[in-house]
Amino acid sequence: MGVMSETISVCCTACGRRHRYTAPSYPCACGAPVAPRLDPRGSATAVGHRAWDEEWIGVRCAACGAEGRWPRPELGCPCGTVLCVPVDPAAGRRAPGSRVPAHRSVPIRSARDAVTAAVLYLRGLGHRDVRRADQRPLAGIGLAAPGVVVQVDPTVGPASVRDVECLWLTAMAESARGVYFSLAGYAEEARVRADLLDVPLFVLDPTGVPRPANAPAAALDATAGWD
Ligand SMILES: [Zn+2]
Ligand SMILES: [Zn+2]
Repeated sequence: MGVMSETISVCCTACGRRHRYTAPSYPCACGAPVAPRLDPRGSATAVGHRAWDEEWIGVRCAACGAEGRWPRPELGCPCGTVLCVPVDPAAGRRAPGSRVPAHRSVPIRSARDAVTAAVLYLRGLGHRDVRRADQRPLAGIGLAAPGVVVQVDPTVGPASVRDVECLWLTAMAESARGVYFSLAGYAEEARVRADLLDVPLFVLDPTGVPRPANAPAAALDATAGWD
């Protein structure tokens, strides 16, 4: 059943509210799920300015020992503060007695690879100026280019209807179109809602190629001029 995702209590540094936080799990290249080890004794810190390199942490796979780069655990408090969730400094050790599973060829080894695949695809659609989005999405990494707001979701679970709705709302607020890339696909309800909201859904297949997962995505894909 995969990785044991921990849940810890996180206290907001600004308003004192307490939150339960469960680490998301991500797919290692070997196929096993990995999750950042949280530090229940550590305290959260407020995220100030954003630096791309500080938003990634190394997470070692207990099954094969490979280290991937995944988004640093963060939590958005309703008061508006973004909290950096404490990570166990001793994390990253290989679990004793773990078995190395059969190797699979998966070029997407980390969230960064998923982001790269999405950026390359967006360039094919004519979006040369893809940057990090100002607003962080619920799950994964937010990208933006003129006219589009993009969510890259590298987590193990399928994207939910709430994920799709949040992307659509964020895009609406910026008079842009939301485009979703997911590694694990979409819940059925999420697909239905995306069709209604005209949100293109793509699945990043293991070779790193985005595949259209609904009609709006297929229509968008047909406009791509590959050069
Ligand atoms: Zn707060
Ligand atoms: Zn692994």
